[in-house]
This record gives sequence, structure tokens and C-alpha cells, in this order.
Amino acid sequence: MSSRQTQAIHVIGGGLAGSEAAWQIASAGVPVVLHEMRPVRSTDVHKTGDFAELVCSNSFRSDDRENNAVGLLHEEMRRLNSLVMQAADANQVPAGGALAVDRDGFSNAITQALTAHSLIEVSREEVELPPPDWDSVIVATGPLTSPALADAIGRITGDSALAFFDAIAPIVHRDSIDMEVAWFQSRYDKVGPGGSGADYINCPMDRAQYEAFVAALVSGDKTSFHDWEKTTPYFDGCLPIEVMAERGAETLRHGPMKPFGLTNSHKPQEKAYAVVQLRQDNKLGTLFNMVGFQTKLKHGEQTRVFRTIPGLERAEFARLGGLHRNTFLNSPKLLDHELRLAAMPRLRFAGQITGCEGYVESAAIGLLAGRFAAAERRGEPVSLPPRTTAHGALLAYITGDHVEMAESGRTSYQPMNVNFGLFPPLASVPNKHPDGTRLRGPDKTVAKRRAISARALADLSQWIDGARLAAE
Ligand SMILES: Cc1cc2nc3c(=O)[nH]c(=O)nc-3n(C[C@H](O)[C@H](O)[C@H](O)COP(=O)(O)OP(=O)(O)OC[C@H]3O[C@@H](n4cnc5c(N)ncnc54)[C@H](O)[C@@H]3O)c2cc1C
Repeated sequence: MSSRQTQAIHVIGGGLAGSEAAWQIASAGVPVVLHEMRPVRSTDVHKTGDFAELVCSNSFRSDDRENNAVGLLHEEMRRLNSLVMQAADANQVPAGGALAVDRDGFSNAITQALTAHSLIEVSREEVELPPPDWDSVIVATGPLTSPALADAIGRITGDSALAFFDAIAPIVHRDSIDMEVAWFQSRYDKVGPGGSGADYINCPMDRAQYEAFVAALVSGDKTSFHDWEKTTPYFDGCLPIEVMAERGAETLRHGPMKPFGLTNSHKPQEKAYAVVQLRQDNKLGTLFNMVGFQTKLKHGEQTRVFRTIPGLERAEFARLGGLHRNTFLNSPKLLDHELRLAAMPRLRFAGQITGCEGYVESAAIGLLAGRFAAAERRGEPVSLPPRTTAHGALLAYITGDHVEMAESGRTSYQPMNVNFGLFPPLASVPNKHPDGTRLRGPDKTVAKRRAISARALADLSQWIDGARLAAE
């Protein structure tokens, strides 16, 4: 049967996960219809009609494939023909050891690749309920799934979705930052793959300035919650800056405002008590985002309080911070190992709605969902990535066995970034340097991470070879 005669797979949502899923399906020779509601209908945070729009930070985090689990996930995705990684690599901006992208260049590249593919049809519409004649569907509608579809999913799953709050950080115009006060430097001068060692703008604070700043955050006017929102918890990885400040006077100095590994080039003798870092947000280098400054302060308060930061007294904000609600499935209970809804297997889920966390993880789960759906459509066996790979570890976390909590009857499942803790232990842990001397302390951790990464990439190669043979 030719590709054109094969029935199309429907992907709902053209975000990070849906774009990657559609690309993988089409790359396997299977037609796909990609349904995206923007720009006909938008969400509270998206600004464009482009595919794979990055709604907050422009960072894909560490690109270190040997020592960092998300860096390893990047590398695996590259080897699996990921469109998201191709577009990210082509639109990289300097960010020390991190992979950060020009957000417009990135989503334009994805939009062009998808719309130009002969097997991808784009349908700009909100899907409220997948019709019964769509026999293979990937739902990748993200944390801001439209209410009608969220209700429909709730009815199908019979399980109320969990919800929590995430917050976004402000973006500042570079030319409004006072560089007589602030200076360029990456922490510990780390160069990283796309960086120079001086990629961040740093704003120093002395002790009095820091204490006044923390007090202003704590007393600042915040966005109020609706009644139904009051019991919604925060996701710990994305706490608003003022919530961190409320946890103790020193919390920020040991978190996003830590002064370590930085020397003020204007006053090398003076050690800053705390430092606010800003990271390049676009290729032109005209916009910088405030690292770790997600906030639910009211907009007027943000401008007032953030302009007390030395160097930002005249800051012009391209975007202020904000809050959003997140929705995700109780995936370990509801999805099978191929990401299909047990109660309705024609529906697969991908991206943040499955409860993974982050751009890269969402795209990676989209990649898997796309491959699984395409293999199923082609009548090939669906093979799961080995648990020892970053993809396999993340998939196992999402669909795996979690402890049920006695009080609610729900599982202990909470959104999670990829991390080495999700990988199965090594059969033998390296304990010696190549010269035979014993590994100690941090060297041991580094050796262990490198061994996990090397095992992952070797097992991934075998999995890719196996899939290639099955498709021949
Ligand atoms: C405010 C905010 C800030 C965030 N900050 C970060 C961050 O800094 N770093 C990070 O790594 N992650 C961040 N995240 C998480 C980030 O959104 C996700 O990691 C990632 O975008 C999820 O990818 P996705 O494809 O699952 O969803 P999305 O990228 O949101 O894509 C879902 C798509 O589905 C579309 N859609 C929704 N409902 C329908 C429907 N019924 N019919 C058709 N189309 C529909 C939407 O328009 C959207 O394009 C943030 C999320 C939010 C909401």
C-alpha cells in the first residue's frame, strides 16, 4: 500500500510534543493530520500561531551528554532524527553549558519543516473531541489543553486530572541594562558547547540591597487565586521567586541568586552578597530573561521591585512574569507502556499532558508516541526503548508503577524532569581511575554518570538497529 492510501494518524496539538510526533510519523512514511487550534484560538500564554512555540525560557538546559541526563536526552533525540533538536541546533544562542535557542528562529524552522512535508496536512482548528472514525490519535495538547477537550478527556478517563501552578520569568531589553554596574560572565567561566564563558549578564547586590529586595518580594502585591485554585500546589522545580523568598531570608542566595563562581569585573575586590543572572533570549542578543525569576507578583509590582536590582534601575521589560495552571493525567494508572489510554487504545498521549516536565522531555515523549503510532499503522511490532536509555527511563517513569497514596487512592505520580535517578543501576560501578588509583567523592559520581550515559547510547544504537530491521 502506498503512503497516500494508508489512513492518516491524527495528532492534536502542534506544540513541542505534537510537532515532533507528526515529524516522526511522516518520516516513517505514514500520513498525518496535525490539528492545531492557534491562531484561530490561543491559550493564555502562547503569542503566535507557530508550531513548537516556547512559552517561557528559551533554554533546553544542559547539552552535556556525558554528565547530565537532559544532555543525554538531547543526544538520543539527535540520533533518532528529532526535528526539535535539528531546529534547536540550527538556532542556538550562547548560553554557557546550556543549549539555548533563538525562540522565533526555532519555531519558524519547525513550522517550515512541517508545512513543507508532503505527508503532513495541517488543520488549524480546536478539536473538542476526537471523532470515532479517527482510529489512531495522539493527544499532545499540553499543560493548557483547551477546556472543552480537557473535559472530554476527563469524561473518557473517569479520573479527574491533577493540577498545579507553574510560573514564567520576565524578559528584559538588553539595551536597558546598565552595563556600568552589571557585567558579562558565565558561572565559573564555563564555556560549554555554544558559549564563550561570558554569556550571562550579572547584577550584583550587597547585603543591605539583598535584604531589602527579599523584603519587597515577600510584601509585594501578588495575583490572587480563585477559590478552586487555592488548594492547587506548586510544582517544586518552578517555584515563583517570592514563594522561595517566603521560605527564608537565605533561600534565594542559595538558589537562583547565588553569588558563587562570579567576579564583578567593575569591582573585582568586592564579593557580591547575591547575584541576579540574565540569560540571552534571542539570537540578536537584544533580549535577556531573568534566570529563575518566575513570579506571580502583579505586573506593576514586578516593574517596581525588579528595578531595585542594581543594573536594572531603568530596565524595560519585553515580557513580565506570570502564572498558569497545569493539567496532567495520572499516567501510570491510565496509560499502557505504549502511551495508549487503557480505556480507549485508539488515543495515545504525548508531551506535558502525560506528566513529563519541560520542553525537551515533552518533545522526547512526542517522538516516542509518533514512532509507536507509525509502527502500529505499518503493522510492525512496537518495540519500547530500553529502560537504560534516557527515553526508556522517562517512559518507564511516566507509565511505570507508582505507590498509591492511601488517603486519596491516587498514585504518588508527580511531574518530573529527566534525571539519572530514573535510570536502572549499573551492573558494576566504576571505582578506579584508568591509572588504577581509587576514585573518590565527586570523581566517583562523574564516573558513574559517564558509565550510565555510555550504556544508554550503546543500548540506544541496538534499539535503533532493531527498529530498522523490523521496518525492512
Ligand atoms: C507558562 C508556562 C511556562 C513554562 N515554562 C517552561 C520553561 O521555562 N522551560 C520548560 O522546559 N518548560 C516550560 N513549560 C512547560 C512547557 O510548556 C512544556 O514543557 C512544553 O511546551 C510542553 O509541550 P507540549 O507539546 O506538551 O505542550 P505545548 O507546547 O503547550 O503544545 C500544546 C499545543 O496544543 C494546542 N492545543 C491545546 N488544546 C488544543 C485543542 N483542543 N485542539 C487543538 N490544539 C490544541 C496548543 O495551542 C499548543 O500549541 C512551561 C509551560 C507553561 C504553560
